[in-house]
Formats: sequence, C-alpha cells, structure tokens
Amino acid sequence: MMPSRHAGAFLEIDLKAIRENYRTLAARLGRSGCAAVVKADAYGLGAATVPLALAAEGATTFFVAHLDEAIALRWAVPMAEIFVLNGLTCGAEAEFVANRVRPVLNSLGQVDAWAAAARRAGKALPAAIQLDSGMSRLGLPEAEVAVLAEEPGRLGGVALRLVMSHLACAERQDDPMNREQLARFEAGRRRLPAAPASLANSSGVFLGPDFHFDLARPGAAIYGLASVAGAANPMRPVVRLLARIVQVREIGPGARVGYGGTFTASRPRRIATVAVGYADGYLRALSPSATAHFDGRPVPLVGTVSMDTATFDVTGVPDAVEGGLIELIGPHHPIDRLAAEAGTIGYEMLTSLGNRYARAYAGAGTERLIA
Ligand SMILES: *Cc1c(COP(=O)(O)O)cnc(C)c1O
Repeated sequence: MMPSRHAGAFLEIDLKAIRENYRTLAARLGRSGCAAVVKADAYGLGAATVPLALAAEGATTFFVAHLDEAIALRWAVPMAEIFVLNGLTCGAEAEFVANRVRPVLNSLGQVDAWAAAARRAGKALPAAIQLDSGMSRLGLPEAEVAVLAEEPGRLGGVALRLVMSHLACAERQDDPMNREQLARFEAGRRRLPAAPASLANSSGVFLGPDFHFDLARPGAAIYGLASVAGAANPMRPVVRLLARIVQVREIGPGARVGYGGTFTASRPRRIATVAVGYADGYLRALSPSATAHFDGRPVPLVGTVSMDTATFDVTGVPDAVEGGLIELIGPHHPIDRLAAEAGTIGYEMLTSLGNRYARAYAGAGTERLIA
C-alpha cells in the first residue's frame, strides 16, 4: 500500500533502528554469529524490506517458519542461508532443494525423509536438526536422539549445518528452566555428529555467553521488543503508529460511549474517534484502559474498541481536533507497554498490526511520511 495523505493511520517502521538493534545484538554476541528471524512477515514489519536492511547490516543467516516464506525470501537475499523452523513438510523435499532452503529437521521421520531425498539427489543436502530440550513443541525428543546416536547411518546424506534447540522461559533470567534446557541441549548435541550449535533467541542472547554457542537466533529484539522481564529495554524502538482523528464530539453527563455503552461520562467530555480498530491490530482487549498520546500528552482510551475505530478522551487536550493524529505506539508509549495493557506480549501486538495503514519506512532512503 502506498503512503497516502488521507490514510486513516500511519505505521512508521524505522529501518535504521532495526539495523542498529541487529548491530547491538551482534556486538553482544562477540565471536558467536547472529542470525535474524524474519518469520511472519518479519514480525509484521515487512518481509520484502526488513531482510534487505538486515543483509546490508551483515546478516547472512535467516530463519522463517514456513517453506513459502523461505521461497519468497530467497528472491530478496539470493546468497543467504535460509532455515525453515517448522520443519520438513512431507513431499516438499524437492522444493527445499530447488530453492536452496534448509529444513530444520524436527523428528526422526524428517531426518529419514531428508536422507532419502539426499540419496535421490545423489549428493549431501544441508539441514539443521532441532532437539527438544524441554519445551515439548518442536524437535527430536530424547528417545529419538538416542536412536540417531545408535544408528548414525540414518544421517547419511544429511550435511548437518546446525544443531539447535529453543528456550521456553529465557525472558525470566532466574528461571531454573534456562539452565535445565542448556544442560539437556549440551547432552543431546554430544550424541550427534559435531556441528555448529544454536540455542538463544533474543532473550537467550541476554542470558550470557553460556547460551550463545555458534549462532544466536534473535527476532523480537531486532524489532525493538524487550527481551528481559523487569529490566530496562536497551533496544531502539522500531515502530510508531499514529491514528487520524476522524471526529470529535462533546458529550454531557450520562452520555455513554461505544458498543455496550461501557463508558458513561460523569461530566462534560470531548471524545475523539480515530480511524484504527481491532481489525488493525489495536486489540479489543485494550478496552477500556489503554493510553495513547496527543502531542506528548496522555489521552485515555474510553469505551470498547470497534473494528475500525477507537475512542479517546481528549477533554484536557483542546488542540486535539479532527484531522489531528493520536500516537497509539511510539516514544511515549512503547509497544510492550501497550501489549501489557491488552494482557498480551509485544510479539502478538506487532504481528497483529494489520494491512490498512499507510506504511512508511524511515531510514530506507524513502521520504519520511510523518514529521
Ligand atoms: C521465533 C523463534 C525465534 C526468535 O525468537 P525471539 O524471541 O523473537 O527472538 C528463535 N528460534 C525459534 C525456534 C523461534 O521459533
């Protein structure tokens, strides 16, 4: 969608901040490598744009969730190493090979299928293997690792590029699960042929060098989200969301606002309606208690968020008039705080942002849309 002056809302994505965040993480990792996770449309920020910025910053390894995401990404970053986290889907071997995409093998069945594909291709085929170190989500359970250890021939034809696992509780630094998973990962990987190792997501990077191994796989921190619960966030904010005021009305005592009439004015109020609603990822669960800002001054959300609109109390902000912009996410209100107001996490907020915004990429050489 082209940026438009009459758009109902503007989403500004700061590519310079994305690059700086990647640099910050890479520096923290020292000699360990820093991949970039760009699944789910680069966390909603644009799979066509964000990976290019990261590649320009030196990223050479990318992770996505689906093969189709990998195939789309292949065009953007022709030389990069691309891994598919959700694994090898049955029958898709030829497409992985044709697009030079590496599956993360998540089960013994997937290992066997990839080895068979290698025999058919007549050459070794690169892949990652994921071990389940305690999350019970994806990856080989201990029993399957034991089988591989006893029958190493089953890995014939698999060029093992990475042994990886995923942390379940890394944002809570004192959670004992972190060290338990680390121990299980180390034990599991010793049973497999030697290969580079990868355990840390964004939060894992902040758990320290024991968790870094050869390659870290941050996503969230690149996009400015907080990685450590209860600590100041060192990453630069990446997104700013501004919504246009499409109507302002004066209401008297007793008047109700929005679906269900959940807000009742106890005294005269000015209510600004903006052109963003839950269809745009401004979650209904934010009702009734989120905060936004007009020109740096807080304006509370009132009533229930509708599909295409939300209403804010601008009684104390006389210059908030039709055509003005209310900042829903930005320097005054980080996305993690907004997410907390909805009872969710920044990840969900970010990936829920819809497609109806006029999007502008700052720091891409394109003109900044919003002053
Ligand atoms: C999504 C994902 C990541 C990135 O996690 P963040 O918390 O966003 O840094 C890394 N590894 C795996 C397996 C993932 O699914």
